[in-house]
Amino acid sequence: MYKEVLNRQREFFRSGATRDVEFRKEQLIKLKDLIVKNEARFLAALRNDLKKSDMEGYLTEVGFVLNELDYMIKKLNKFAHPRAVKTPIAYFGSKSYIMAEPYGVILILSPWNYPFQLTMAPLIGAIAAGNCAIIKPSEHSPHTSDLIEELISEYFDGQYIKVIQGEIPETQALLEEKFDYIFFTGSTFVGKIVMEAASKHLTPVTLELGGKSPCIVDKDIDIELTARRIAWGKFLNAGQTCVAPDYVLVQRAIKEELLDSLKKAVHDFYGENPKDSEYYVRIINERHFDRLTNLLDGGHIVLGGDTDRKDLYISPTILQDVVLDHELMEEEIFGPLLPVLEYDRIEEAVEFVVDRPKPLALYLFTEDMDKKKYVLRNTSSGGVCINDTITHMTTKWLPFGGVGDSGMGRYHGKASFDTFSHEKSVLESGFTFDTKQKYPPYNTPLDKMKKLMRFL
Ligand code: NAD
Repeated sequence: MYKEVLNRQREFFRSGATRDVEFRKEQLIKLKDLIVKNEARFLAALRNDLKKSDMEGYLTEVGFVLNELDYMIKKLNKFAHPRAVKTPIAYFGSKSYIMAEPYGVILILSPWNYPFQLTMAPLIGAIAAGNCAIIKPSEHSPHTSDLIEELISEYFDGQYIKVIQGEIPETQALLEEKFDYIFFTGSTFVGKIVMEAASKHLTPVTLELGGKSPCIVDKDIDIELTARRIAWGKFLNAGQTCVAPDYVLVQRAIKEELLDSLKKAVHDFYGENPKDSEYYVRIINERHFDRLTNLLDGGHIVLGGDTDRKDLYISPTILQDVVLDHELMEEEIFGPLLPVLEYDRIEEAVEFVVDRPKPLALYLFTEDMDKKKYVLRNTSSGGVCINDTITHMTTKWLPFGGVGDSGMGRYHGKASFDTFSHEKSVLESGFTFDTKQKYPPYNTPLDKMKKLMRFL
């Protein structure tokens, strides 16, 4: 079904045009121009899809992508330059280097929660590394997806970058084709489908998935600031953030105080009635609204729990006394519901985390050096943020990605360039020197050969 589009891209890739670093830089500048000139339209589309405020849309999507673009444009020459490495003395007269080579035609599949950022950020890496790309944005954020399609087709030729819209059947048809790399952002469930399809063609994948990111809160901390940082990370985008703290594990002694501070933080951020707040996002659609309201009976509600299906509104909600074998604690919440559980010793909190699939992020609030070391050493997660939430994924110097059930591969900053490049190892020899001992018949005694091998 999509063979024709792929063939055109493959032909363009083979022309060699995208191998030129200057060409790539021009395309990144063009992409920046597309975004800057249409910033207001993108912010409006995000408002239409999710009721995102312009400020949140800029901070978490448009501004983030522009930062990534500027960095990539500035550093591209350096990233693309072959990297010299040592050569064994036995190969005297040779040199060795690693050159970054584009894969070819890339498929980017993106979700609806940050529909602009999660489409554009991988695209930056794909362009920078010299690839062609087919983008399949989410069908659940149609305003943003339509605008991306309209502008990408206006600014770029389809033989280089093309947007294909569709739902599950179209995505599955795309996945039947042989791509050179697939970059998928979405749920763990669909991640498995993507990887299975990719395996038929031995296509390498990056899977940026989700999971239940825990937030461990120790007792000797600034409780008020901790609560603000947790509430911000949780209720941003109404909890529809892959790295949102999914649940809190708090040291029993400060639980009540933390709950009070969390309530205060929510009030400070969104006022008496969050429904009236300009800064409070809505749930993407009825299906997710229904899924989330079904989770409300997984615990005792201590804040919020207000819902309005017509408005797709669920207020910031905090629950305690949660049922562990309820979906609330068994599945990624991906909405504005925050279960709070207690622990006595840090070892218990760590055990709770390692008993479950490896999360995308782990949050730890503590000033105790030993506890920081203990948690870092004894847990596995895509990333860690100590004494804050979300911020670790916003810096271009920290590669972002999951591990285990939360995914594989990483991007942002240089990691985006690396992800979309094959690192080709090259050894370049000359004709002046030759290691004659390697040719049969082998006249060198084995003892001497063993000594020579040390020079490899
Ligand atoms: P999703 O997995 O339902 O959809 C992602 C993409 O896959 C969409 O383009 C969709 O059209 C396609 N798709 C859906 N079902 C498919 C199927 N059966 N076969 C083939 N393709 C299919 O995810 P979502 O609901 O859009 O996003 C939410 C999930 O994404 C959450 O789990 C969240 O944690 C995760 N996520 C991860 C990151 C990250 O960077 N790691 C970022 C955002 C969201």
